[in-house]
Amino acid sequence: MNEVLHFIDGSFKPSISGRTFENINPATGETINSVAEGSAADVDLAVSAARKAFAVWSKTPVAKRAAIMHRIADLIDEESEDLARLETLDTGKPLALAKTLDIPRSAYNFRFFADYVKGLGTECFQTDDVALNYAVRRPVGVAGLISPWNLPLLLLTWKVAPCLAAGNTCVIKPAELTPLTATRLAAICQQAGLPDGVLNVVHGFGPDSAGAALTDHPDVNLISLTGETTTGKTVMRAAANTLKGVSFELGGKNPNIIFADANLEDCLETTVRSSFSNQGEVCLCGARIYVESRVFQEFVDKLVERVSRLQVGDPFTPGTDVGALISKEHLERVDGFVRRAIAQGGRVLIGGRPAVTVAGGFFYEPTVIVDVDASCEIVQQEVFGPVVTLQPFESEEEVVAAANDTKYGLSATLWTTNLQRAHRMAAALEVGIIWVNTWFLRDLRTPFGGMKESGVGREGGSHSFEFYSELTNVCVKL
Ligand code: NAD
Repeated sequence: MNEVLHFIDGSFKPSISGRTFENINPATGETINSVAEGSAADVDLAVSAARKAFAVWSKTPVAKRAAIMHRIADLIDEESEDLARLETLDTGKPLALAKTLDIPRSAYNFRFFADYVKGLGTECFQTDDVALNYAVRRPVGVAGLISPWNLPLLLLTWKVAPCLAAGNTCVIKPAELTPLTATRLAAICQQAGLPDGVLNVVHGFGPDSAGAALTDHPDVNLISLTGETTTGKTVMRAAANTLKGVSFELGGKNPNIIFADANLEDCLETTVRSSFSNQGEVCLCGARIYVESRVFQEFVDKLVERVSRLQVGDPFTPGTDVGALISKEHLERVDGFVRRAIAQGGRVLIGGRPAVTVAGGFFYEPTVIVDVDASCEIVQQEVFGPVVTLQPFESEEEVVAAANDTKYGLSATLWTTNLQRAHRMAAALEVGIIWVNTWFLRDLRTPFGGMKESGVGREGGSHSFEFYSELTNVCVKL
């Protein structure tokens, strides 16, 4: 593939302007290929195609929509080896992770929402013997789906699947750093029989580019964005001009809270994952670790020992635990956070610098920092890399206050065998998702989203359909 093209109205197309940008392999720093750089004109074509297709897709029987979505899932499974390879090439994540998480979950997103929509009902209220009220569900229209680079196909399909299941059409704007699997998904959808124009892909950047053109477009009804909190604020302002519906999954700075009564072995194993999976580039990573004082030193020592065993390196090599960060800029950003934490008194117990592995790649050593206080930038801001801080605490009240003391509210992990405490804390922590004695265990029927500056709205199960459909109340006088 020399140039990654847009997919508009069933055809792969270059940009109208002819402009392109480079797609870089983070594990080598080399160019993979060039990518068509979309602008307002390309977005306009894609939105027109999606609007035209909406007339047909919105009237397509649910069973037929679901059958096409199942075929898409089957094709993702059939092409899983190749899709995983593309995901690793684009992101620098270990191939084993792409094979076991990103790609299977992408197929499952389609199967899950295809099945869910078939059983979806609406409310009905009988108002004594005066009236009967029921609700009619209908698709909204054209959705703009804007995705990030960390779990490219997984998070994109988390949007596309409910959007299409509900009868909407879409224009996708994949992250500029990871255009490959979204483009392959377009080809898969066409092969599965999805009508032309139902799913369109326009590549490009955010501000002054395809992303902004999509959020500004008057004929786009919905915007679903996963990205940084600052991007959410910009997109919300743009969407306000035409009162688009918005659903945002944004940044996180998630606490991982460990009580002395926890099963420390389970907790250690999971904490290594929740800290360093996908190079720490997961919005749900538990970057702030709070450990009850009387087991603090024991926990820190054991964690550092386990971190020292992580293999950082070529993401295509079996046995690699931590691959490359997404870009040179991101590597420098992560290192900047660590340097400033050290300047503010933080003590690096392991890691704390770029890893010298594959020449030209953007690798960073898994990093554990102690001796930071609550006000430090590294405790307050999302680093989105393989860096965690550890702080001791004495009491439940103290740790709840510390955990809630950020602008974010995405998720929290809690380790305790005290049932009452688990329920009490679940009610007190200001986050959208709480895992007790586990992490990243997902049931797609549950509400997923963040409080405070971590998001707007919830997705998953019926919550996704609340966003991707309109309800009309019909009141019939009896
Ligand atoms: P980002 O905000 O830089 O970009 C996300 C997407 O938005 C990209 O496609 C980008 O091109 C687009 N974009 C940027 N500015 C835009 C604008 N002005 N108008 C329209 N589109 C615009 O985020 P990223 O760096 O790709 O991803 C990392 C961030 O995503 C982290 O903050 C992470 O926490 C967050 N994230 C959140 C979740 C969640 O479920 N809450 C999941 C994954 C990632």
